[in-house]
Amino acid sequence: MSTAIVSSNLGFPRIGENREWKKTLEAFWAGKLEEPAFLKQIEEIRLSNLRLQQEKGIALIPVNDFSFYDHMLDTSTMFGIVPKRFPYEGGVVPLTTYYAMARGSQGATACEMTKWFNTNYHYIVPELNETEPKLTVNKPLEAYREAKQKLGIEGKPVLIGLYTFLKLSKGFKSDKIDELIEVFLPLYTQILTELEQEGVTWVQIDEPILVQSLSKEDLTRIHHIYTALAAAAPKLNIMLQTYFDAVEYYEELVALPVKGIGLDFVHGLVQNLQNIQKIGFPTDKVLGVGLIDGRNIWLEDLQQKLQLLETLAASSVPYERILIQPSSSLLHVPVTTRKESKLEPVLRNALSFAEEKLSEITILTEALNAGKDAIAAELSANQQTIAAISTSAYRNKQQVQQATANISAAPSKRNKSFAERSVLQEQKWQLPFLPTTTIGSFPQTVEVRNARKHWRSGEWSPAQYEAFIQEQIAQWITTQEELGLDVLVHGEFERTDMVEFFGEKLDGFAFTSNGWVQSYGSRCVKPPIIFGDVEFVQPMTVKETEYAQSLTQKPVKGMLTGPITILNWSFVRSDITREQVAYQIALALREEVEALEQAGIEMIQVDEPALREGLPLKKQDWQAYLDWSVLAFRLSTATVQATTQIHTHMCYCEFHDIIDSIRALDADVISIETSRSHGELIHSFEEHTYDQGIGLGVYDIHSPRVPSVNEMVEMIERALQVLEPELFWINPDCGLKTRGKEETIASLRVMVEAAKLFRVRRQLPVS
Ligand code: GLN
Ligand code: ZN
Repeated sequence: MSTAIVSSNLGFPRIGENREWKKTLEAFWAGKLEEPAFLKQIEEIRLSNLRLQQEKGIALIPVNDFSFYDHMLDTSTMFGIVPKRFPYEGGVVPLTTYYAMARGSQGATACEMTKWFNTNYHYIVPELNETEPKLTVNKPLEAYREAKQKLGIEGKPVLIGLYTFLKLSKGFKSDKIDELIEVFLPLYTQILTELEQEGVTWVQIDEPILVQSLSKEDLTRIHHIYTALAAAAPKLNIMLQTYFDAVEYYEELVALPVKGIGLDFVHGLVQNLQNIQKIGFPTDKVLGVGLIDGRNIWLEDLQQKLQLLETLAASSVPYERILIQPSSSLLHVPVTTRKESKLEPVLRNALSFAEEKLSEITILTEALNAGKDAIAAELSANQQTIAAISTSAYRNKQQVQQATANISAAPSKRNKSFAERSVLQEQKWQLPFLPTTTIGSFPQTVEVRNARKHWRSGEWSPAQYEAFIQEQIAQWITTQEELGLDVLVHGEFERTDMVEFFGEKLDGFAFTSNGWVQSYGSRCVKPPIIFGDVEFVQPMTVKETEYAQSLTQKPVKGMLTGPITILNWSFVRSDITREQVAYQIALALREEVEALEQAGIEMIQVDEPALREGLPLKKQDWQAYLDWSVLAFRLSTATVQATTQIHTHMCYCEFHDIIDSIRALDADVISIETSRSHGELIHSFEEHTYDQGIGLGVYDIHSPRVPSVNEMVEMIERALQVLEPELFWINPDCGLKTRGKEETIASLRVMVEAAKLFRVRRQLPVS
């Protein structure tokens, strides 16, 4: 008789069905909840998440995936890694210190936060300098005990693997990594031996770093770590869990002395499967089959998943040696579709958030244990739902599909070179030396946000709201003229969010009521869903921009969000490639660009702040992504006249490694954030200069501080040493929507003054 096939989960959203977690955290931070009450409420959320997985029938339920803020911060503090600027005297890290590290406190800046691999989740970066790691508390063990005592759950403790933890930490020189491994190994060993003594069966050790490009040295270290850990707790089953892509060095990894290997069969499907088919899978190991997409929100085609399991079985991975699980933690998807009653059934039924994904896992497990017939009803419902959406009109817009099928025939190149265009543009625009401009948005004050609320709730008529927006635009046009800026903007008062605004106006997008996912700490985002063919319906930005232009002789820049940013900040349909969706968005945006031009708006900025963050995890996949991203951008901007000036903006500056693609966008002007790492950027321009219009942010918009003229002058001087002054623009780092009115005006005044100093200097005879 064969043993039963086991279902497993890798992690569950912390935020709760109604974002209770966020609300509880924020109430505690605001001093509205005492610590004991706070801990009690948090415990309830944690237990209810576990209970839900228990009710769904998941056999291996993860514990210790829950967090008070972030799992990397949990790991650091578990090891007593607290930077010296925070109060800490050893032992268990107090909650106040924990939150001070996450959010900053009086006198101590918060720890750095950065993207968790290629997700939109951000973790707190561990700072290892000057710390002496110790095991202050065995968190996985505590979580295991809690689940067992309170709910009778035989949980699967989850922890971040040693190598991933070190690789994501900072505060040490890379040649110290071997020493650090020796520091941490005893701590990990202790965690595991205590789990073993407690009678824990499975532990999940997350090593997503294994899907990134690794060196042979990395591999040797991984081998060393896992040989030591497996030897230290021989009775504990270690599931070495990877996700987000296929593993590098498959052969070496599956030879490690651990009991299980977890692979992503969604985002790393092709390569992981090929490896198994070519190399086989060891007969003494369990394969964690990441079948259900932990990163996207669509119901899976269950037949297809069963076929994949059959393929695996035919390639020496029999059903008795697999776990059926999601491709990654479900942290990256919303909690449940149950509340989405406003969505059309054809779409709503095709969605699967965390709870629904658990059901998919148990259905597949049941299919293997009891035979397909046992789940015949579920399978047929699944087929129908998928057929319904794929045959729906939303996904069958002939025109859109033809246009993207013929994408190579669509214009993607401006009809004149930058050299030719810049001459024509100079004649047309007659801008002064070092023209000044801003990135698009002006302060979204309480007044602006309230106006939008009134309008959305119906309290204000559309006409009332529109009048309000016009008033804001008019005020800021006046302000910009008074300040003496050269290229003006309308201020983006009508937009909440740079993607949502366009999603609401384009066809093919849907918005959930409650589809929140954690972005960092208590902050959650509700990404739009691109579920159908994307189509332009009517102009989206022309009215406000045209109105702004009617109030001034100076040029007003039109302001659009680029195709790649819209793509990367949405949940995207998975029945066609992301590349195809990018082209659909690009063609829709092209219509907007043309509409703006028709309306006399002949400077148009297409923002791409999310271009870089969409880079794949493996370097070898970068170029393909960059190529289609650049093409998408060009498709949306190529058809304008030579005199029309295309701007773009990016909120980062680490692009020395993608500079060729940035150049290939062929924008007439690019503005980029710089002030937080000015030195590095200047340095990278020494190596490869940039020879189209460029504006390096001359002040940091993340702080309310108004910089001095001298600071800005210095920034500009250094930039002009490596960039062509005739092509240089003066602008802030990014949009100003999060800033207050007064500081915004004060900083811009200084900025214009700085530009004027340079203009005067240029007139002076050279001595
Ligand atoms: N135009 C946008 C703004 O000014 C750009 C925002 C961004 O780069 N994230 O707000
Ligand atoms: Zn920006």
